[in-house]
Amino acid sequence: MNAEWHRAHVLGQHAGLEDRIAWHEEHARECACRPVPAPIAAAIAARADVLGAPSRDAVPVVPGNTAP
Ligand SMILES: [Zn+2]
Repeated sequence: MNAEWHRAHVLGQHAGLEDRIAWHEEHARECACRPVPAPIAAAIAARADVLGAPSRDAVPVVPGNTAP
């Protein structure tokens, strides 16, 4: 467990969902002493669907650069 990280990153009892998501994303990278709670994981996955997938799909094949 990364106790130093935990001392520097205390999540308040009244933290909002966005704060919790940000905390758990960073926690997973820096420490991960416990799993991301299911509701937070679901919120992260839902947000990734909204923000991540379309932009990846939108990366275009450059016209005229597809065939030799
Ligand atoms: Zn931890």
